[in-house]
Amino acid sequence: QAKNDGRNCFKYFSEDLTRAARERMDLEIRLRLAIERRELRVYFQPQIDIASGHLVGAEALLRWETDTGEIISPSRFIPIAEETGLIVPIGNWVLQEVCRQGRRWLNRGLAPIKLAVNLSSQQFLHSDIGEAIGNILRETGFPPEHLELELTESVLMKREREAIEILQQLHELGLGLSIDDFGTGYSSLAYLKLFPLDVIKIDKSFIEDIPDHADDMEITATIIAMAKTLKMRVIAEGVETAEQLNFLRSRDCDQYQGYLTSRPLPIAEFEKFRRDYRPRPVEPTCID
Ligand code: C2E
Ligand code: MG
Ligand code: MG
Ligand code: MG
Repeated sequence: QAKNDGRNCFKYFSEDLTRAARERMDLEIRLRLAIERRELRVYFQPQIDIASGHLVGAEALLRWETDTGEIISPSRFIPIAEETGLIVPIGNWVLQEVCRQGRRWLNRGLAPIKLAVNLSSQQFLHSDIGEAIGNILRETGFPPEHLELELTESVLMKREREAIEILQQLHELGLGLSIDDFGTGYSSLAYLKLFPLDVIKIDKSFIEDIPDHADDMEITATIIAMAKTLKMRVIAEGVETAEQLNFLRSRDCDQYQGYLTSRPLPIAEFEKFRRDYRPRPVEPTCID
């Protein structure tokens, strides 16, 4: 009796596994095709300077628009791209698209903004990223000082020494370096000092419960203060309410991005956003 149950259990378990494995393989095959069919798109999310309200940058975020019109989020396909190594050609394509687009905007006489691109672990540690970016900058003529690369703590902590060397090499190209999703990994203040970084991005998990969670407010304020001490720029991500923005302003956070201003937008819509955007007057804060 017990034996039978066990066997049934195993059967269901293995069917589940097979299904999951099949879905992954299916997604991998579709992703390979997506590249050939040019179904990948770069969206841009505006980044706003808190003190002036001006648009100062945009983060490039990948989207997959399938032939059936479905839009697949990067959190579903980036991990697979990462495991299969497909992330290297995809990531290089993103960099190229962003630099080309940035060059076009400058050629049209638009005010320069910083363009931020996410780098994955494979791309950063296992491809010659310095050379790839050097080539892309040269080919597109995009000025490196307008490009910012985002890395997560886990990527930097994985191989500290190597990471520092690669970061230095990237810095020498003249571009900016950010630490993304800050606060979710294991890096300490002491570690952070070792890396040549310019920007800290506060993870949205700390922002989302402001003002309900006092501890998140304290963590956020501490990260901002720490960034100032280290002379780094600090950006809050995932800002959805005016209350969150007011809190960040009161703590002297430099910039933010979030649905409060805009979701990530396809290029044409982002261009329309740029044309129509007017900084909102700063709401006076009460000083008792
Ligand atoms: P990330 O780099 O931390 O990007 C920020 C994420 O927060 C984006 O999710 C963005 O759409 C979302 N977001 C922005 N504002 C708000 C807000 O107000 N509320 C909420 N709830 N979310 C907000 P997205 O676009 O789904 O990207 C997820 C992750 O996928 C990114 O996290 C990044 O790690 C990765 N990713 C996206 N594009 C690329 C890429 O080109 N290369 C690599 N390697 N990774 C990428
Ligand atoms: Mg990012
Ligand atoms: Mg982030
Ligand atoms: Mg994130």
